[in-house]
Amino acid sequence: ESWRDPSRYLKCELTPFGDEKLLFIYDVTRVQHLEQMRQDFVANVSHELRTPLTVMMGYLENFSHQPDMPPQWRRGFELMTQQTARMNRIVNDLLLLSKIEIEETHEFNDVDMTKLLTNIYDDAQAYNQAYKHTIHLHIDTYDGLYGSEVYLISALSNLVINAIKYTPKGGNITISWTRTSDGCRFAVEDDGLGIAPEHITRLTERFYRIDKGRSRATGGTGLGLAIVKHVLHQHEAQLQIDSVEGEGSTFSVVFPAAYVRSAATS
Ligand code: ADP
Repeated sequence: ESWRDPSRYLKCELTPFGDEKLLFIYDVTRVQHLEQMRQDFVANVSHELRTPLTVMMGYLENFSHQPDMPPQWRRGFELMTQQTARMNRIVNDLLLLSKIEIEETHEFNDVDMTKLLTNIYDDAQAYNQAYKHTIHLHIDTYDGLYGSEVYLISALSNLVINAIKYTPKGGNITISWTRTSDGCRFAVEDDGLGIAPEHITRLTERFYRIDKGRSRATGGTGLGLAIVKHVLHQHEAQLQIDSVEGEGSTFSVVFPAAYVRSAATS
């Protein structure tokens, strides 16, 4: 009955059974509906929080410039301003995540990766001023991608900013873009804090952070890698994390050949 009903969601699994194969068909309609409700709920809450937050930030900004503010209030205002800005970042990241989840392919176009990576590198250098790392950019191919420029900037710069944030001052970071046998590879390598193996598989979960205190202090929302994972999924690419605690990490992504726009033909 479920099989014929177009409004139902079915999941199929083929399992070896001696010399034969068994086909399991599960009706996952309820799970799918609950997932849809979760997505809608998060999207609606984030959307509703935007206006009150904008009003609060506007007034805080105005008040903070009052010259006759009693000194004992000043610190309170600073904290309120910092925390509302943090809340605003969380709400924006949640909205972005909801948007990416809903849209399968967001305005895919040919993307000039040399330009995109150079822009990311320039922004990273600005962010790096407080950290004083040495950042290298190696672009070994002019190949571009077929994808969403906006989302790719968001995901790849997230990986670069993380490398900056989670590397003690004066570290080395290398961003690279290379051709591989089956596509093109983007990688960010750092010699920072590194990640213990038990955390690696969980890093792309929403709000998963190894050290909440440090992440908050660096302005993190805990949603960055969840966004990265979704954006890469749209481009049929996967995130690979290689890391040794105390030595550093490499976050890399291979974009499959179908999404590569060869420089030779463009
Ligand atoms: P956050 O906003 O906390 O940075 P992310 O989702 O971007 O959230 O990252 C999740 C967690 O993964 C971070 O809190 C941090 O503990 C860890 N992490 C991410 N990138 C690195 C890195 N390059 N080196 C060490 N730890 C990292």
